[in-house]
Amino acid sequence: RRQALTAYKDKPSITQDGHSITLLANVGNLSEVSHVTDVGAQGIGLFRTEFLLMNAKALPNEQQQYKLYSDALHSLQGQVLSVRTFDIGADKEIPYLQQSAEDNPALGIRGIRYSLAHPDTFINQVKAVLRAAIHGQVRLMFPMVSQIEELESAMALIDHAKAQLIEQEKSFGELSYGIVVETPAAVFNLPSMLPLLDFVSIGTNDLTQYTLAADRTNPHLAKQYPALSPAVIELISMTIAHCKQAKVKVSLCGELGSDPQVLPLLVGLGLDEISINPTSLLEVKAALINGRYQDFVTHAQNVKRLTRIDEIRTAINTVNCN
Ligand code: PEP
Ligand code: MG
Repeated sequence: RRQALTAYKDKPSITQDGHSITLLANVGNLSEVSHVTDVGAQGIGLFRTEFLLMNAKALPNEQQQYKLYSDALHSLQGQVLSVRTFDIGADKEIPYLQQSAEDNPALGIRGIRYSLAHPDTFINQVKAVLRAAIHGQVRLMFPMVSQIEELESAMALIDHAKAQLIEQEKSFGELSYGIVVETPAAVFNLPSMLPLLDFVSIGTNDLTQYTLAADRTNPHLAKQYPALSPAVIELISMTIAHCKQAKVKVSLCGELGSDPQVLPLLVGLGLDEISINPTSLLEVKAALINGRYQDFVTHAQNVKRLTRIDEIRTAINTVNCN
């Protein structure tokens, strides 16, 4: 079966009726970087940079990070690298950072909130990414942005980072900028933020948690509060509609994108790109290539009318798009 799937590696990710989707890989450690092209990905759609912190004893400095992002770009050979700035806090605790204890860490200082509270850490990372961008195509994305004020503050820090690099006479490249949509507020506030953005990526893991108020790490809740809840599907659909309206590229990088059975729904809803776990990439690619976009659209329209999780699961398990 594995062997049959490898036949899809070098095929373009286009449906039978000619609709093309970009398939990227989610990467959470260094050794995966060099393998993303082996599984037929067109680049990295989510580089979870926290792994740099988890395996270290201290924050890596600008130079260390520059080296690492540059190495990643070299092994990608021209393909895109989407660097997510440190998503510190909540389920991603970094032992040596001594974050202050919070009653509700998932609702606390995490993601962009941590970065804005620790601008030096953020600026260091941004400087490293900007410098590495000389070696390839880099996107920068901010986790857990829910409101325009956070985005504006982050962009102001980007300007600081550039000013420092200019003053230090270090050369740097251009980036494109995006946010990870992970809260319902981000979806509703998107129209005000889109003018500042080059792309948006939907993080369904956190979007599900924050929409259904169900802790993503609690196994007792996963079945009853899944990403395939009608509420989450509606928020994905709204995000896509806002992005299309503003002509901003829309991607999805949550776990939901790694399920080949969900591919017809996601593509039918209108995503431009999906970022997938490398181990599932070829299966998802096969589902895309063997299907018809028109059938995906019809299927997505049907699923959007359903109000019960079990009906949605049945529709997804029984759809035949090839
Ligand atoms: C998400 O929340 O869907 C996501 C992609 O980010 P992470 O799983 O790293 O929180
Ligand atoms: Mg997340």
